[in-house]
Amino acid sequence: MTFDDWLEGHEKIVVPAIVKRKLPATFFVSVQGAKWRRDFFDQMRVAQANGSEIANHTITHPSLPSISLEKAKAEIDDARKIIMDSVPGAECLTFAYPMGTKSNEVIDMVKKEHIAARTVNPFNENNISYDFVLDSLDYYRISTVRVWHIVTLEKIVQWLDYAEAGGGMLTFMMHSVYNDKIEKGWDAMPEEFLTGMLDTLKSREDSIWITALASAVKYHQEKKACTIKILKEEKSKMEFILESPLDPLIYNQKLTIKMRNPDCHMEIRQDGLKVDFTFSANGEWVYANVLPGKKIKVKYWAY
Ligand SMILES: [Zn+2]
Repeated sequence: MTFDDWLEGHEKIVVPAIVKRKLPATFFVSVQGAKWRRDFFDQMRVAQANGSEIANHTITHPSLPSISLEKAKAEIDDARKIIMDSVPGAECLTFAYPMGTKSNEVIDMVKKEHIAARTVNPFNENNISYDFVLDSLDYYRISTVRVWHIVTLEKIVQWLDYAEAGGGMLTFMMHSVYNDKIEKGWDAMPEEFLTGMLDTLKSREDSIWITALASAVKYHQEKKACTIKILKEEKSKMEFILESPLDPLIYNQKLTIKMRNPDCHMEIRQDGLKVDFTFSANGEWVYANVLPGKKIKVKYWAY
């Protein structure tokens, strides 16, 4: 879920509703309001502390290709710096082009400090494939589904079905959310629709990973770049590492590894800490989430 611009309904409706349901989202914030509002970042801090992502949507929301390169650079870089300085923990690694407009020069500037960017281009809804990146530039032209009052919950369910069947990444783009106290804005969506959508998403959590855009892109890049290297393999223990060529300070998303169930007691540790694991329904596999670039130690002993 991505919410653009940072509007009144985001603070008053969306953040409380997603925090209550423990659902993360990405907020593409245009920071111009920070100049005259002391509490501008308060609810962003709440969202960030609860697993959401506060991301870059420039300062004044200009069409970037139609202003000078110098001004465009300032819009992109200054907004990122302001968000990172104002919201503890915000990495500000993703970007949304204001009005969806971009040029090669704009993409080059965005690439310097961001790992991905969302456009306003519609998805091919029948082909939400895991292999959506054929060229590394595709991370900077991620397409989306516009969700506003004309969309129905049945349609949301259908999109989720397509995403699940294709195994790919689906981003929803949302703007204003209103109720009887908050006015309608751009692409308005009533509060009841949002909460219905959130409950629908929540009910699919066992089969769909609902996460912030940066986490999904990190996972996608890491999975492609990492290789498993076995360091030690004995009867009672094994050590291995997910070798990664990526910058560990940015690419810190845990990947899910899958191992054969050894049919005995086992313990997995990384960095000295125990790693939780689960079993596949048929008991054949063990799944664990681990970080790239750090040794993983597995111990076995008889039941
Ligand atoms: Zn916008």
